[in-house]
Amino acid sequence: MRNSVSLESAAAIVRRRLLRWYDRHRRNLPWRRNPPDPYATLVSEFMLQQTQVRTVLPYFERFMRRFPTLRSLASASIDDVLPFWAGLGYYRRCHHLHVAACAIVDHHGGRIPKDVDALRALPGIGAYTAGAIASIAFNVAVPAVDGNVCRVLSRLRGDDPKSAGSRPRNEALASRLVAPRRPGDFNQALMELGALVCSPRSPDCPRCPLRTLCPSRDRNPPHPARRAMSRIRTSPVLHLVALAVFRKEQTFLVRRPDRGLWAGLYMWPTEEPAPRADRDAVALELCRRLLPRVAAIPNHVGHLRHVLTHRRVHFDVYVVRVSAGARPTVAGRWKPLLTRASDPPLSTAQRKLEACLVSHGSA
Ligand code: SF4
Repeated sequence: MRNSVSLESAAAIVRRRLLRWYDRHRRNLPWRRNPPDPYATLVSEFMLQQTQVRTVLPYFERFMRRFPTLRSLASASIDDVLPFWAGLGYYRRCHHLHVAACAIVDHHGGRIPKDVDALRALPGIGAYTAGAIASIAFNVAVPAVDGNVCRVLSRLRGDDPKSAGSRPRNEALASRLVAPRRPGDFNQALMELGALVCSPRSPDCPRCPLRTLCPSRDRNPPHPARRAMSRIRTSPVLHLVALAVFRKEQTFLVRRPDRGLWAGLYMWPTEEPAPRADRDAVALELCRRLLPRVAAIPNHVGHLRHVLTHRRVHFDVYVVRVSAGARPTVAGRWKPLLTRASDPPLSTAQRKLEACLVSHGSA
């Protein structure tokens, strides 16, 4: 079986073996419910975009406790929702999920649509997410091709998952393979096989239910693996000067715009310096802009590195102390150091920065 034509002719065998394997080996995950819960599926699919299952688990549980229904999510403000996403990254997803929930209430009577086109009209929902929600929550026989599924199908076709044209070929194959009676389970089985058995670097072919159909079996690795670390090493670096203004025990945070990096979260005021700019001068300029009446000079207290998926961020951290009457020129929030339940939402990078301030004795 060396190509998709022969795989398609063996579709019944692929479905049977895959579903039998899934029934025995699938993980017990909180969003996999019987009968399926469309809202839990919607939330989990947004959280799982570009994020691993084990990372999502605690966030999903917390989020569902706070927003147990689609209407409870839609009626909350984004500032109430973001703290339950803080630390999970890709904050645009949280904004999209919230807007999608509002749109479902406004235009679909609060019921998540089954139709793939209606799902795709919602913010943050592309072909994969629409297919996953329609098939898992509503048993609609459509494919859902994510990175894991793409890898499995490419290997079953004897192809490199990174080769040009691989994705459309895999989507076409997935459309023809999807099990008409259990499409949600079939799609999840392919994803689960990619996550648990057909891994990027060391697929466990002896345990694979599709091994006798697979031309890539026991080729280890089936195709040259890309090294994640090399991507991180070559990813661009964003340099930022961060300024922690202290007024008594409280420090001043500003809200990020609703688009872009750390969208809608709070952070210490920052400035991106020009390539060879003097960091001390940039911190002083930032301080003067925020607090024109303050004569104090910011003190450099540390350097912090943070790695995101596609870039690295290096912070030079400065501290300045101001008197009780000092008022910044921009809107923001004051908070004490160290995590509190009432904190505004902070990214993981800002939590690291907070730890840097604590270790420096700024609290
Ligand atoms: S036999 Fe190996 S390479 Fe082929 S699909 Fe199964 S795990 Fe992946």
